[in-house]
Amino acid sequence: MAGATVALAAFHWVAAPRAPGGDVPEAGFFKGPRVDVHTHISPVRAEDAVQLMDRFGIDVAVILSAAPPGPEWLRIQRAAAQSDGRLIAFAGMAWAALRYPDRLGELLAAGVHEAHRLGARGIKIPKALGLALPDPDGGLLAVDDPRLAPAFDAAGALGLPVAIHVGDPVAFWQPVDEHNERFAELSLHPGWSYADKDVPSHRALFDAQRRLFARHPNTTFIAVHVAGFPENLDEVDALLNACDNVVVDIAARVPEIGRVPPAVGRAFFLRHQDRILFGTDFGLYPTSMMLGSPLAWPETDRDLSHFFRATWRYLETGTRDFAHPTPIQGDWPISGIDLPDEVLHKVYWDNAARVLGL
Ligand SMILES: [Zn+2]
Repeated sequence: MAGATVALAAFHWVAAPRAPGGDVPEAGFFKGPRVDVHTHISPVRAEDAVQLMDRFGIDVAVILSAAPPGPEWLRIQRAAAQSDGRLIAFAGMAWAALRYPDRLGELLAAGVHEAHRLGARGIKIPKALGLALPDPDGGLLAVDDPRLAPAFDAAGALGLPVAIHVGDPVAFWQPVDEHNERFAELSLHPGWSYADKDVPSHRALFDAQRRLFARHPNTTFIAVHVAGFPENLDEVDALLNACDNVVVDIAARVPEIGRVPPAVGRAFFLRHQDRILFGTDFGLYPTSMMLGSPLAWPETDRDLSHFFRATWRYLETGTRDFAHPTPIQGDWPISGIDLPDEVLHKVYWDNAARVLGL
């Protein structure tokens, strides 16, 4: 304890941590509403999901489904429609249109209109764009391929936000050895590594994403996972400054944004308090769950409780050096940024309500 006091004094940390004893309630300290803009909830677990949301203080969850309008997506949409406003669903693009390259933009745009007609509240683009989806002319389809433009314009015209996942953690491009900061996760999922794969670099994907955003100023993009570059908040800062049609979510990236000096992280949130959305990447599947990243062992109730409490501890307290929400994603401690209530209100609710039209 004496050591901790000395460390706090040395950093001139003035805010009184809200959880000096280390206990954070499962629903956090914040008393207002929260929207989790980034979840993966199976329709057969919708009722369980709402119970967990009640327990952890989450009022509305966005199911970021990448399924195109069709039978699978309609099951999700039906569960959302029956949830009394607690769950809302995004839909994916109709990528089967890649079989008709001459009509690609037109068919994808038609799929966006169909998703809107069926009640989708936004469009989800998975990381497969840029990393796996094939270009009909050979190679991989680029994130900023101009043939996709009609679909992004259609989303903008319909007022549907586009949640887009570009790239992956920087470590996935680096050699998989004990120097890799995601060694544990990549050891569990060797196929996630791009070290020996013929894919664009992390940098190339991030730059393509920026060109895409600039090309569609009338479309709102939710650049998930802190725009795919949580390891470098200066880059995200520049992106947000350049593209005012872009907001970011923090899903599954509290480990990265929580390891910078808390004053730096806090300043980033204060600067972009109207552009940062709360999200978790919480998944509830028929027989399993996901807490930011799939584990090698079945998640326990203790893991679940830690996942949310560590998230609240990061955003709502000034606690130093504690275990982040997703231990599998890196072996380092994080420190809380103790956001003021009015900023928490924006990050938890106002910004999402604006983008989603709640
Ligand atoms: Zn996700």
